[in-house]
Amino acid sequence: VTTYWCERAWLGPGQIVDGLLVEVADSHISAIDAASAAPADAIRLAGLTIPGFANCHSHAFHRALRGRTQRERGTFWTWRETMYDVASRLDPDSYYDLAYATYREMVLTGITAVGEFHYLHNDRDGARYDDPNVMGIALIEAARDAGLRIALLDTCYLSAGFGAPVEGVQRRFTDGSAEGWSGRVEALAKESGAGVVVGAAIHSVRAVPREQLATVAGALPDAPLHVHLSEQQAENDACVDHYGVTPTRLLRDRGVLGPRLSAVHATHLTDPDIVDLGTAGCQVCFCPTTERDLADGVGPARRLETAGSALTLGSDSHAMIDMFEEMRAVELDERLVSQRRGTWHADELLTAATANGHRSLGFVDAGRIAVGYWADLVTLDVTAPRTAGSGAGTETAVFAATPAEVSHIVASGHPVVLDRPGVGALLDRAIGAVVTS
Ligand SMILES: [Zn+2]
Repeated sequence: VTTYWCERAWLGPGQIVDGLLVEVADSHISAIDAASAAPADAIRLAGLTIPGFANCHSHAFHRALRGRTQRERGTFWTWRETMYDVASRLDPDSYYDLAYATYREMVLTGITAVGEFHYLHNDRDGARYDDPNVMGIALIEAARDAGLRIALLDTCYLSAGFGAPVEGVQRRFTDGSAEGWSGRVEALAKESGAGVVVGAAIHSVRAVPREQLATVAGALPDAPLHVHLSEQQAENDACVDHYGVTPTRLLRDRGVLGPRLSAVHATHLTDPDIVDLGTAGCQVCFCPTTERDLADGVGPARRLETAGSALTLGSDSHAMIDMFEEMRAVELDERLVSQRRGTWHADELLTAATANGHRSLGFVDAGRIAVGYWADLVTLDVTAPRTAGSGAGTETAVFAATPAEVSHIVASGHPVVLDRPGVGALLDRAIGAVVTS
């Protein structure tokens, strides 16, 4: 048993306490107790301690694109071409190396669980590997070695667009049919265990034909299910052209909506779409730093939450990995769109990045500092130049802090060594091996 003493801790909305003992047995919190001073045998956590973050939407290999897709004017197509170029080079070893370095970066920022939306299944020529799950297993091992819990959201991708066959690097993504996908994923599901959840994902309504959506949704009935939804207006227009309904309505008609589902982006929705997602109890995963990088737009986060959809957050393309920025961007983007302040309370955004997020990844006992929960403690230095004098409350965590003020991390019960230069060198090497310039 390891005992930590938090100078100040956030236990949930409206619950900031000064002086808290947290006992950790192995990977979970075994006891908490008030204590005004640190006992001699406790590890002292000075500052504000919050639960670890859940990064609910990640494509680990996109980390290699940072700083590259902005070249020339950095259009959406610059981004996609660079992404396909990296995707065409990766093999199981370089996929592991890049994911491992990326996950180490995540851990350093206070993330303790990741939802990895994984669609790079096949060999470079589009053929299955001898072990058809070798790429997914590389991600699970990378997360485990980096000290992160992972929900591997194995993604079904069958079509390059409504009725369009896959071509080029997209042949690495496809299982041919939803049955082909589910057969492969059933074997992968055996990898789930402590800290590992194997879930399912529908890449998008473009990439899985209508008749096959229910097969994907039904394959792992107790696991999380994620889908990219209405990220760009063009996807909605093409869906209406092809099927006569919006992407959300299509998913509703095929029985895909429900509490297991996280709708990622959920940017361009109609009023009935918002009602459908909320009524079904779907989560919505916003990725504001990517959505702004790709010029997607600003989704109706508050209206979705009011309709019944809990908010979660993700760093998606890893234009940056900074859950503090994802949290505040939800409110700050709404301010720009509505010309009104105060749509979100800091407590709500911190709940989105912690308890809501972990739950949506299948880690129901994570995201709170409470007995029986995974021991994920992230301590912020509130005396740093950026945070000093700001009150050391949740507003400091959400509206002022960055990963640079994270001074101590316990992830799944293990203390994290804050070796920032070492992780920088790892990223340099892993990215250098898969990019051309
Ligand atoms: Zn994505």
